[in-house]
This record gives sequence, structure tokens and C-alpha cells, in this order.
Amino acid sequence: MPPEMVSGRATADAELTRYLGELGRAHRKYGVRKEHYAAVKAALLATADKFARRGQGAGAGDYWEAALDRAVEIMLAAAEEDAAHAPAWWTAEVTAYELRTPQVAVLTVQPSEPFPHLPGQHLWVQTPRWPRLWRSYSIANAPRDDGSLTLHVRAVAGGLVSTALVHHLKAGDMLLLGQAEGEMTPDPESRRPVLCLAGGTGLAPLKAIAEAITGTGERREIVLYYGARTESELYDLPALRRMELDFPWLQVIPATSHERTDSARYGTIPVLAGQARWEDRDVYISGPDAMIDKTVEVLRTLGAPAERLRFDLPQTLRQPGSHAPSVT
Ligand SMILES: Cc1cc2nc3c(=O)[nH]c(=O)nc-3n(C[C@H](O)[C@H](O)[C@H](O)COP(=O)(O)OP(=O)(O)OC[C@H]3O[C@@H](n4cnc5c(N)ncnc54)[C@H](O)[C@@H]3O)c2cc1C
Repeated sequence: MPPEMVSGRATADAELTRYLGELGRAHRKYGVRKEHYAAVKAALLATADKFARRGQGAGAGDYWEAALDRAVEIMLAAAEEDAAHAPAWWTAEVTAYELRTPQVAVLTVQPSEPFPHLPGQHLWVQTPRWPRLWRSYSIANAPRDDGSLTLHVRAVAGGLVSTALVHHLKAGDMLLLGQAEGEMTPDPESRRPVLCLAGGTGLAPLKAIAEAITGTGERREIVLYYGARTESELYDLPALRRMELDFPWLQVIPATSHERTDSARYGTIPVLAGQARWEDRDVYISGPDAMIDKTVEVLRTLGAPAERLRFDLPQTLRQPGSHAPSVT
């Protein structure tokens, strides 16, 4: 096998192992235990037997069984290792709730136990209104001394959890949280200036990253494009303006795509990204999947190196070679 194929395969194996480990850890919050894996394996083998093994020849069943055994082994090992130092879920009290637009709320929660997280990561949330339904929300702050976490939530029309969080929550309510995940975190070695490209509540993880970088006291320039359709949807602009005053190396550029105003640039984030200075920078991108996808495409076409572009996208939308290890 040529060396590049060997190294490509090793990378794919490492990525699969990382993914299965994350899956094993994530399953803890559903109450999945070791004995459940045998039932899932039996169901998957029966499914493979019915739909996939046909025409694969004698012995194919052994390969399926070996592959599933290996996957279970990796998931269980990761879950057990995680259980040694972290709960399967955390309870958290809502300590502040603010409806910023008719559809977007900013909430702060206080976990009952320390909740480890890195800037740029997201966590899982379950509300008492929808038992056993978990949804991901980005953490909008760098780790704080008091351990509190701020989330920016947009109510999706017909959405179960987002609607409950935006329209039926008040201070004092309790939520369940699942562990923080995601690898769109700031590179601790980098001293490069930063370009952040945020659309809608995609601002949340980029605000956490900006907070973390400004918190180091380094004189590192951060340019943050913050886009929404209209000016009234720029729900966090006053807070960002305050951050700008505290940290002169931060520049916030609001942008609207459906309305021309004097106080914001006109255009979508992908279009504005193409006009922004990205050449010498670490670039963080967060927002709706289509916005991330288009922005990455624009920057890659202009020649931006894949390893400088950091974003979270579902597995299916990831660009080959780009730093997009998780989802948004
Ligand atoms: C890594 C990650 C981070 C995220 N961070 C945030 C965040 O910081 N803030 C935030 O508000 N959301 C965030 N989301 C989205 C969030 O997890 C939920 O998907 C969203 O709140 C909808 O959940 P729901 O239960 O209300 O809707 P569901 O009940 O799951 O869906 C109801 C209907 O709405 C549709 N739908 C779901 N999501 C959307 C959408 N975004 N736009 C249009 N239609 C949709 C579904 O297809 C379905 O038809 C994040 C998602 C991921 C994967």
C-alpha cells in the first residue's frame, strides 16, 4: 500500500476512534449501560443480515460482528473512563433570563457541580417539559470563576426544546445539562490575530472565544463580524459594544443582510468574509450550517489554508482537510 494511503487510513481510523469515543461518552446522559450494547449489537447484526450481507460472500457476517465488537469496545472504554471523573449529567438552575427579541433569549444557568468546558464548545440541554430530549447549545462565555454558563437560544418555529427555553422559562427553573463537546476551541499556541464570522446565535461560541483571548491580556487583534437579517435581530450588539470599550483590540462589525442601515454593513457573512482581512489570521466561523458551508467555500476559493479555518459542522457537511471536528 502506498505511504499516503497508509497515513490516510491511519487518520481515518483515528477520526473514527475519536468519534466513537465521543458517542460513548454522549450516550451516558441517556442512561445507556453496558448490557444495552448487546441488544443494539444484535439488532444491528440482524439489520446487516437482512440488508447488507447479501452478495458479500461467506464470512461477511464475521466482519460485521468484529467491526461492531470493536465499536462497542471503544464506546464502552470511553464511557467508563468518563464516568471515573464526570457525572452523566448535571442539574443547573436558571439564574437569569432575558428575552432579547421575540425569538431569542439569553439565559444564564448555574450548574450544581463544576461543569468543565472550553471556550467555543457546546453542551446538551434537557428541559422538564420534554423529558429525554437533548439538544445542543453553544456556551457563550469563557469559563468563569463562579462556573455559570450563558446560552443564546433562538426559538425555532415548531421546535420543542428551543420554544420551551425561549417562551416557557424563568429564573429559578431547573435544567439538565450534558457534557461540553466540540473542538472549535482557540489554539493555545497561536499568537495570530483573529477573524470571527458569526451569523445569528452562532455568535455564542465566538463570543466565548473572544472573551477567552481578551482575558489573557494579550494585545491580539480580534475582528468580529456579527451578522443578522435585520438590525433588530442583532440581539447582543450592546454587550459586544461594551466588550469593545473594555478591550481596544476587539473590533465588532455588525452586518445586516435584509436591511440597509447606517449602523451596520450591508451583506451576508459569506460575502463580507470575502472582503475581510483573513490572510494572517485564525478564522472562526459559526452560524447556520449553510452560512458556514458558504463562508468556508468563499475563503477556500480565495486561498485560505484549511488549517486556519475553524468551525463546527455536521459530519456530512465537513470539508476535506478543514478543522471541523464536530457539529453546530
Ligand atoms: C453543535 C450545535 C450547537 C448549537 N448551538 C445553538 C445555539 O447556541 N443556539 C440555538 O438557538 N441553537 C443552537 N443549536 C440548535 C439546537 O440544538 C436545536 O437544534 C434547535 O434549538 C431546535 O431544537 P428544537 O427542539 O426546538 O427543534 P426540533 O423539535 O428538534 O425541530 C422542530 C422542527 O424545526 C426544524 N429545525 C430544527 N432546527 C432548526 C433550525 N435551526 N432552523 C430551522 N428549522 C429548524 C426541524 O427540522 C423540525 O422540523 C445548535 C445545534 C448544534 C448541533
